[in-house]
Amino acid sequence: MTDRIKLLPEHVANQIAAGEVVQRPASVVKELLENAVDAGAQRVQLVIRDGGKTLVQVVDDGCGMSPADALLSFRRHATSKISEAADLFRLHTKGFRGEALASIAAIAQVEMQTRTGEAELATRIRIAGDTVQSNESAVAPEGTSISVKNLFFNIPARRNFLKSGKVEFRHVLDEFQRVALAHPGVAFTMTHNDSEVHQLPASNLRQRIGHLFGSRMNTRLVPVREETQLAAIDGFVCKPEFAKKSRGEQFFFVNDRYIRSAYLHHAIMAAFEGLLKPDTYPGYFLYLQVPADAIDINIHPTKTEVKFEDEQSLYAILRSAVKHSLGQFNISPVLDFERDPNLETPYAYERKQAALPGVSVDRTFNPFAGDSTARGASRAGKKTSAAGWEVLYEGLDEEVVEEATRQDWTIESEGGNPSLFRGDTAPAPDQAGIFQVGRKYLLTRIKSGLLLIDQHRAHQRVLYEKLLRNTTQQEPATQALLFPLKIEFSPAEWHVLNAIKEALRGMGFGFGRMGDHSAEITGLPVLMAESDAESILDGVIADWQRHEGGEHFSQSDRIAKALSRSLAVKPGTALEQQAQLALVNDLFGCKEPGLSPGGKPVYVTLPMEELEKKLS
Ligand code: ADP
Ligand code: MG
Repeated sequence: MTDRIKLLPEHVANQIAAGEVVQRPASVVKELLENAVDAGAQRVQLVIRDGGKTLVQVVDDGCGMSPADALLSFRRHATSKISEAADLFRLHTKGFRGEALASIAAIAQVEMQTRTGEAELATRIRIAGDTVQSNESAVAPEGTSISVKNLFFNIPARRNFLKSGKVEFRHVLDEFQRVALAHPGVAFTMTHNDSEVHQLPASNLRQRIGHLFGSRMNTRLVPVREETQLAAIDGFVCKPEFAKKSRGEQFFFVNDRYIRSAYLHHAIMAAFEGLLKPDTYPGYFLYLQVPADAIDINIHPTKTEVKFEDEQSLYAILRSAVKHSLGQFNISPVLDFERDPNLETPYAYERKQAALPGVSVDRTFNPFAGDSTARGASRAGKKTSAAGWEVLYEGLDEEVVEEATRQDWTIESEGGNPSLFRGDTAPAPDQAGIFQVGRKYLLTRIKSGLLLIDQHRAHQRVLYEKLLRNTTQQEPATQALLFPLKIEFSPAEWHVLNAIKEALRGMGFGFGRMGDHSAEITGLPVLMAESDAESILDGVIADWQRHEGGEHFSQSDRIAKALSRSLAVKPGTALEQQAQLALVNDLFGCKEPGLSPGGKPVYVTLPMEELEKKLS
């Protein structure tokens, strides 16, 4: 039998390895930035074009390479960072595999210029798809500049797989932020298509966070610091009231390396328990230092995962450190006294079924008691005339009753009259005939039975149509602000804001003077409270970033969706009778009342027959 196994030619092997290391432009950015940091650079410049698809260039003032090293650096497993296996357990550099440059050169057109401090002349190497095209001396400053052009130029299938420039830009920005946050002492700049995205001077961590995410971060940060034998923790968490609708600003570093760990993320979230509004995510910038031999970062080629020796103890330490800081800085749920207390409950309670002073009724209660077809109701009716509805539970001990009422629907009659539920003929709850159920649904009667409406989705539908109608008006309805609201944005948010400003104007936002990453808001959509404006704008921008490339008819459509999501009454909000009635009326005045803007059902009907079946 003939031998069948062959060694792959090196360029094929390299292309395969490249698949591991380089998934998209952001991977190149990460590798080049980390190499620059490893080289001891004080200043690092990142230049990209088309989200990095046509160009990624990193220029540093680090140690540079000798002519021989410059050539060797493109060979696979060529690294100056480790020389024996034991080194893997005392890593102090980002890189160690010696694979990045080889992989990048296998799938792009690369040019490197590099000079060490001692050398008179720099080395300039051009290499593409593994083939060295030129290698010459050149005049260049100390340090290294590497430019990577036309990623995947020789693998069209993978090139086609790349997303739009905007989406790739977002990924690059994420990597840039991670490296910049891991090394606040190094100055970084980032330029995209000739415009400056970030200019970060060497600074401390607090300032670095401010430069990256806007100076308003400064008042939102709470320091966290803890030192134990096992680990040291340092950094900041954001005050819970500034938690956002997206997870964007959550950064966790281990030994100055950005790490993803669902387990330790959970520890941080556990410390915030009870302090957050539903569906919001607190920002954090936390740095864990552990002895290099207590972790194994060698398990994943892109190295955002890590194995810890004693993960459980780290969990406990992290959770208590964050909790302690939140406590120490006196961060407790914020109660805003200017708001209608009926419309808001403290965050921790918002999701629980509150024990209300009104009467809770089991679902066997039937508001159509007068209706002779409602057999269950007439049965209940007879008994209630004697002893009230509780009789239904006769023979059950109290705990069971409580359990049953909690699990089943409870019909809350807030501020209502408990006597409504007694007597022979139970009248409709009020003239409007609408109940709020579980602070989440509105229940009302229709000819054929009952209608159960999801209040949040219904309100979204109403707002969505209103906002879109607004955009078709010559002069969109707006409420002018007496004092313009000045809002600071991070460079990334600023980018988005400028892209969607006109559409926001159509919805009723007014913009005054635009500063350097700050905007004066002079008007708001009619439905929006001034105090919510900033967080809602934040939400729309985050939404925009998250759903980049999603399916939408237009920019306005997308913004109307995002705005209606933020503005709509949340589940868990108690609504007064009048508001309930208005919502139901508005909903059925809509063009498409049955679907939320996101395409989910807004209501269900419960036909009489089904109710009867249940009660038989
Ligand atoms: P690794 O970083 O894992 O060692 P790379 O392929 O990223 O592997 O780089 C190979 C080698 O090239 C590095 O070990 C380093 O010696 C050298 N090198 C790469 N980039 C730079 C740079 N910006 N400045 C100085 N040396 C560099
Ligand atoms: Mg490297």
